[in-house]
Amino acid sequence: MKSIRENCGVFGLYSESDCVGDIYQGIDFLQHRGQEYCGISTYDGVIHHETHHGKVANAFTEEELKKLTGNYGIGHVSLQDRQPMRWLTQIGEISVAFSGNIINAAALLKEMMRRGKSFVEGTDVEIISKIIIEEPNMVAGISKLAEKVRGAYSLVVLTEEGVYAARDIFGFRPLILGYDNTRYAVSSESRALQNLDMDIYRDVEPGEILLVDREGFKTLSKLDSPRRAHCAFEWAYTASMDSIVDGVYVQEARDNLGASLAQRDIDEGGILADIVAPVPMSGIGHALGYHKRSRINYQEVFLYNRYADRSYTQATQVAREKMAKRKLSILPYVKGKRIILCDDSIVRGTQIMHKVLDLKEAGAKEVHVRVSCPPLLYPCEFGISTRSYDELIARSFMKRGDITSMDTLRNFEKWIAGKIAADSVKFNTMHDFVAALLTSKENLCLQCFEGLSPYRTDQ
Ligand code: SF4
Repeated sequence: MKSIRENCGVFGLYSESDCVGDIYQGIDFLQHRGQEYCGISTYDGVIHHETHHGKVANAFTEEELKKLTGNYGIGHVSLQDRQPMRWLTQIGEISVAFSGNIINAAALLKEMMRRGKSFVEGTDVEIISKIIIEEPNMVAGISKLAEKVRGAYSLVVLTEEGVYAARDIFGFRPLILGYDNTRYAVSSESRALQNLDMDIYRDVEPGEILLVDREGFKTLSKLDSPRRAHCAFEWAYTASMDSIVDGVYVQEARDNLGASLAQRDIDEGGILADIVAPVPMSGIGHALGYHKRSRINYQEVFLYNRYADRSYTQATQVAREKMAKRKLSILPYVKGKRIILCDDSIVRGTQIMHKVLDLKEAGAKEVHVRVSCPPLLYPCEFGISTRSYDELIARSFMKRGDITSMDTLRNFEKWIAGKIAADSVKFNTMHDFVAALLTSKENLCLQCFEGLSPYRTDQ
């Protein structure tokens, strides 16, 4: 069983001219979603294909990019594996890339191997591809996924006809369409489209299967969706702050999350602090929101090393800890200051503890930690890196259901403040968290907080 799960981004494009430059830029703008592997496939009568270990900007050579000819193609960035994956099939040559995670991968592998199917490594993208290519056409193949696969997938498939795009029936991971006069594109995040000077068209609907070709976007099927379950973590952490996810500006959501933390402090008697500061980079939007509501000055306390990788998408704990140390240095200005330190979430608690200790060592008088997400009590099954139960610090204090009790939350906050050496810790309540995301609770996946799977209908 995988202990670290993938986080990744997909991009697809149909253009009137060569597409590789735009696809290269598209996945470069999605790099924050996964930094271990990248790949591009293009089509000009045959599929041209290149994948790499490494980041987009360092991985592809000029020579390789020149060989990726054609007007349409797909690209991928990943923490976990090389994609796209190219196949010769009964329905022609295809290349497949997806973002998400299959929960029932082991059962599907077993069932398919019993029927004589072979796999190279048995990765999720292999399983998805083999389910698709057993069917007589792409729409039947992608529809079959909804029947067989439990889990999250936002998918792009390169074929002779163009780029097929699809989203699982819950819409866990984002997928959005953009265009201009000469190009039609599909992307995990709107920032790739915006930065390629395209207009946003709309989000792909949960259960929708569409074709992107010279005529634009053609919806070919719309599978029944029992409910939406957009990953709440996209707005709190995963997506870039300049993206719009399922109609909500990520920046606005983070602003609201910070503001509600400040409001809780105001409502509970206020807090005397000199500055509000973010844990870079993911805490910035939250700290700005706190600052605007509280009117306490915003001030950076860590200098971010832009040449270090994002620690969350490092594949091992050792790599994460090394990178965390390289990533931030402290500004001497903190001496004597009472600091509100904002971050998106606490998983293991070790990184925030080191930051609190570093600030105190540098002379900070008080450090009050404010966390936008409610305590994380369950591992994510749907494709976000982390988390076994053992990794979740909140799990050693609280159990299922406790998150709704304000008394338990306050007791947990006191307990964790001691663990991470902070003068105080506060989290957003579930009610405030959901309100800040400007989306109704029924449209969100909140399984890592509440433990309730969107697949269950009896809850
Ligand atoms: S369990 Fe949490 S991280 Fe995973 S998809 Fe649901 S909200 Fe997102």
